[in-house]
Amino acid sequence: MNKTYSSLLLLAVLLCTRAPAQMLPEPLTDGPTANSDEGRPLTYYLPDLEYDPNIPTPEEFLGWQIGDWHISHDLQQAYMRALAASSDRITLEVIGHTYEQRPLLNLIYTTPENHGRLEELREMHVNWSSPNGGMSDGDLADVPGVLYQGYSIHGNEASGGNAAVMAAYYLAAAPMSEVGELLTNNIIVFDPCYNPDGFNRFASWANTHKNKNMTADGQDREYSEAYPRGRSNHYWFDLNRDWLPVQHPESQARIAQFHRWKPNILTDHHEMGTDATFFFMPGESTRVHPMTAPVNQELTARIGEYHSAALDRIGSLYYSGEGYDDFYYGKGSTYPDIFGTVGILFEQASSRGHLQESENGILTFPFTIRNQVTTALSTYEALENLHDDLLSYQREFNLEGVTSDGYVIDADGDPGRSRELADILARHGLPVQHGTSEEGEAYYVPKTPFSEAAFEPILEFEDSLFYDVSTFSLPMAFNLPYRQVSGGTPTDMRWTSYQMGEATAPFDRSRAEYAYFIPSNDYYSVRAIYELQDAGVRVKVSDQSFSINDGATEFGRGTAMVPVYGQEMSAEELHRIVTEVEDETGIDILTTNSGTVDAGGLMLGSRSAYQTLRKPEIALLIEGSTSSLDAGETWHLLDQRFGIPITKLPIDEVGSSDLSRYNTIIMPDGYYNRLDESVATALKEWMGRDKVFITVERAGTWAAKNGLANLTERKTSDPDSAITQRPYEKAERDRGGQVLGGSIYRTVADLTHPLLFGMKREEIPVFRSGTLLYEPAENIYATPVRYADEPLISGYSPRGFAQKAAGSAAVIVSGSRGGRTISFASNPNFRGFWYGTNRLFMNAIMFGTTINGSTVE
Ligand SMILES: [Zn+2]
Repeated sequence: MNKTYSSLLLLAVLLCTRAPAQMLPEPLTDGPTANSDEGRPLTYYLPDLEYDPNIPTPEEFLGWQIGDWHISHDLQQAYMRALAASSDRITLEVIGHTYEQRPLLNLIYTTPENHGRLEELREMHVNWSSPNGGMSDGDLADVPGVLYQGYSIHGNEASGGNAAVMAAYYLAAAPMSEVGELLTNNIIVFDPCYNPDGFNRFASWANTHKNKNMTADGQDREYSEAYPRGRSNHYWFDLNRDWLPVQHPESQARIAQFHRWKPNILTDHHEMGTDATFFFMPGESTRVHPMTAPVNQELTARIGEYHSAALDRIGSLYYSGEGYDDFYYGKGSTYPDIFGTVGILFEQASSRGHLQESENGILTFPFTIRNQVTTALSTYEALENLHDDLLSYQREFNLEGVTSDGYVIDADGDPGRSRELADILARHGLPVQHGTSEEGEAYYVPKTPFSEAAFEPILEFEDSLFYDVSTFSLPMAFNLPYRQVSGGTPTDMRWTSYQMGEATAPFDRSRAEYAYFIPSNDYYSVRAIYELQDAGVRVKVSDQSFSINDGATEFGRGTAMVPVYGQEMSAEELHRIVTEVEDETGIDILTTNSGTVDAGGLMLGSRSAYQTLRKPEIALLIEGSTSSLDAGETWHLLDQRFGIPITKLPIDEVGSSDLSRYNTIIMPDGYYNRLDESVATALKEWMGRDKVFITVERAGTWAAKNGLANLTERKTSDPDSAITQRPYEKAERDRGGQVLGGSIYRTVADLTHPLLFGMKREEIPVFRSGTLLYEPAENIYATPVRYADEPLISGYSPRGFAQKAAGSAAVIVSGSRGGRTISFASNPNFRGFWYGTNRLFMNAIMFGTTINGSTVE
């Protein structure tokens, strides 16, 4: 930017000193309250400056000082609105809403003069690093730097969101002599709370349990939050793993804003264990994703110098260069790295509540906040001083990433599933093309650093330790075949630019005289069946494939059929319901006017071919020793995506609950070694005809021990068991190398089995973490999915594990008291984006009862 800064400064000072009184918000209380007893001045957190008296301090607004209490999201947003109303350095935007309808706020900070041409500056900034942006290297001085600064994506890591209040005040109220240069040459997109639902949940917990005479005893209830805890969002998802899958409204709004602004730095303020100190990136140099440019890590280290200097000034202990990795692009501090942005992770030792004993002495909540405020401010210093280098790097990274290559993703005959992947790719700023031909549909995206990282499998690693998953191929998660092509979209299809959420084909809206068919190929076919059932429609299914109209229309196994005859509504009413379901699900429901299908095929009245489906009434076991992440994924899948209501049943209350109202019970992964006997007793009593019990991972082992499933764990002996001694210094690394944090494995499926209805290819990639394996069932029909002979496709696995997994069972069906127990050896619903395998899970819910009794273990 040009340096007419001193005249701007004068103008801005004049503007800031004349804020009219009527613009000031009303304080929320009449002043300090009885509990405002900490006595910490503003200068505990912020440099001692002449702050603008027309901007309300947090204490003036709240009636208590930051750190006295945990600020709720409601108060945090009220304060942000008050700041925006009193400062001409801020534009406030509501970028979205959480599931609980809390607004996701962004405060855009820059000089009043820059606000006057904000859109022009934004476009200039984006064009700077765009291959088609039309800018030249000489424009550098005019291009504003952009910082995206965000807090407390883990809601119970609250020092970040509380520090945000102080940092937001600082940017609004600090004198222009202090922040003039920063705000003239840069734009700060300030995101005070990445996870409002979890943040509010935790604030409520911590405040509810606060003592007037505070105890630092870590055993106080204040420090042991109840299930599901405030880390996660409304559906118990870890939002700091959702930057890549973007399945939640918080991430969707944030990623859209990220691509709107293409920041140079993105920060992410967290907390870690109480006995730690303060961490800032860079992390472990051997645990950086290979596609992240070395310059990124160099800049990260240079930014880090500003943090260490600032923490030195207040005497806080800190560390860097160890402990955390920069590998999974689904995390906030790593996602930016594949777009030429520098992502920065901060981790502060957590006081959890207000005061806690630690190895480093008594840790107070205000102290944790102060470290976060201090590094928020040192980030401004880094941005101001490294402006040119950050912008040059971003431009180089993106211009160098341009190729004429691309990826074609086959839709696999499944409009619903492939559309969902296209939406994710579009959300990441990729220009998606939709292709059609007589043979089917496909999608095309150009090859960019991001798409390459999100598509390609990875099998070689510099390090064997991972803080999270070691692979994340999106097409594999969706079980969609893809290939790399050169020179743009292939010519054998017609291509159009894809818009998010686009419907695919025009529907046949005619009224059936005889029956309707819901094709099984679409991901959402189970949703369509459920909606029909919920409207009181009787739905049948067949495990046979057939065709009508002399082979012109083919139907796969699992095609559901709705006869017009025998329903409790008129044919007209049924037609109305069917049309509504088509609109809801995007599925083309087809019709027939005859009960006979093509020669040699079945008849629609056939008693052996067709079974009536029962409407699932579902209880999901939660709480206690269940995994809240796994339970939350199931809740989200059914509630949000499939529109199926469920009861969240606390597992410790199963013994005293009336289970008869459910025909389907889901037990997610968890630690079940000490589960009360009454749970097994009640479930065995409940089990019977038309009942389906679904277990995931260790729930299957528990079910087998308690007579609810018939399966055996495969014993996995240690390949290193012959070694009798190793050097002490290798111990930590050896142990880490034995962890399977998250890899993709190849399984082979029996497509004739009801659990595979709608699936077209025998090979199915599954997500796997942990080393639990099941032996295949003795009944030769009871293992519909098993691990392939060479099963590892992508990611790190401990030495020898992949061979051990070969041939083991991925899904086992046991018969128990006339009901069916369906056991998944690994999580089919991982992080909400494994659309490929959650089809099997939905099939288990909808079609589990139709599995022939002679084919179960
Ligand atoms: Zn965290």
